[in-house]
Amino acid sequence: MTERTYLDWNATAPLHPAARAAMIEAMDVTGNPSSPHGEGRQARAILEGARERIAQALGAKPRNVFFTSGATEAANWVLSPSAASGRQTSPLRALLVGATEHPCVLAGHRFAGSAVHSLPVDRNGLADVSETAARVAALTAEHGKGAVMLALQAANNETGVLQPVEAIAAAVAGHDAVLVCDAVQALGRGVALPAADIVFVSGHKIGGPKGIGAVVVRSDAFAPEPLIHGGGQERRRRSGTENVAAAAGFAAALEAVIRDQAANVSRAMTLRDQVETGLKHLHADTVIFAENSPRLANTTLFATPGMSAETSLIALDLAGVAVSSGSACSSGKVAASHVLSAMGVPDDLARCALRISTGPTTTARDIEMFLGAWETTLARRLKRAA
Ligand code: PLP
Repeated sequence: MTERTYLDWNATAPLHPAARAAMIEAMDVTGNPSSPHGEGRQARAILEGARERIAQALGAKPRNVFFTSGATEAANWVLSPSAASGRQTSPLRALLVGATEHPCVLAGHRFAGSAVHSLPVDRNGLADVSETAARVAALTAEHGKGAVMLALQAANNETGVLQPVEAIAAAVAGHDAVLVCDAVQALGRGVALPAADIVFVSGHKIGGPKGIGAVVVRSDAFAPEPLIHGGGQERRRRSGTENVAAAAGFAAALEAVIRDQAANVSRAMTLRDQVETGLKHLHADTVIFAENSPRLANTTLFATPGMSAETSLIALDLAGVAVSSGSACSSGKVAASHVLSAMGVPDDLARCALRISTGPTTTARDIEMFLGAWETTLARRLKRAA
């Protein structure tokens, strides 16, 4: 196989060696963690060990960490009118949701359409703190204290933009709103996890296996109605035999990324500078989206006018370079990204958006390979257009 350059870490990260080792060991354990015999207890010990390590890394109590099959399930579970805090006995009545949230939030919540309100972002992709506080105040005045849920991501998967979740949490504190934060892309990438009521994360974005995620609740007060009913696993919140090996792999990957976080972020910043300087050098009209916003060190979303993302992605792939056109979940679709639309980017430019996302094993040579392939792609296309 020809040499490949993988620059699509926001879609999924390569499996971390520590995760692979932990999973292989766990897969040889026979028991069901719910069985009381020795084999079952051995599986239970691995599962609870993984939960403790994840809780430790996220600054939570192990009893407040619940495993799911990933962030999509987590969003579908917790974004529910039943997620009211213990202080409130009646269901939540309104969901205020960031316009640039991941589709698992926008399409996955369980509120009636009429209860959902979109929170706009500015052209830099940022939600405004005072505007958000005013919207929560207005919805609270309409529906009552504690009746509003606010869903805001820590980091955007397409642009890398970091929302001011902490400042917003402080600004809305008086309204008893339930704050839910999708921290999937922020995890292990130099961003402090926000003090939200409910946070959810995913294993495969940080070098863990695909198909495992976790919901972390700030306290027992937050107990959304289960989405998956059955045998009552995960303290009756999420039924189904737990994926013990995946939990072990997730915990091992998380420990590794947290341990190496500072060094990884600093390397990512150097690589991002290399990408962005190179792109602008190759074509002066290249736009880097949310360039001046606080954003993840590993992510660049850019567009060169006239270079359709769909065609560019294929050309780069043929040249051995894997990148994304916006989010992986939407690649394959021709529609312009809802994230860029929310930022006011015209559709014709949005359709040219390509995302480069790096990770701990990305090297300067990978970026050179990409820039070389991009130079060729640009030259071919511009020649054809001439
Ligand atoms: N939230 C964000 C910000 C993501 O980037 C993704 C994955 O693309 C998800 C949620 C969904 O995660 P999962 O693949 O675990 O369902």
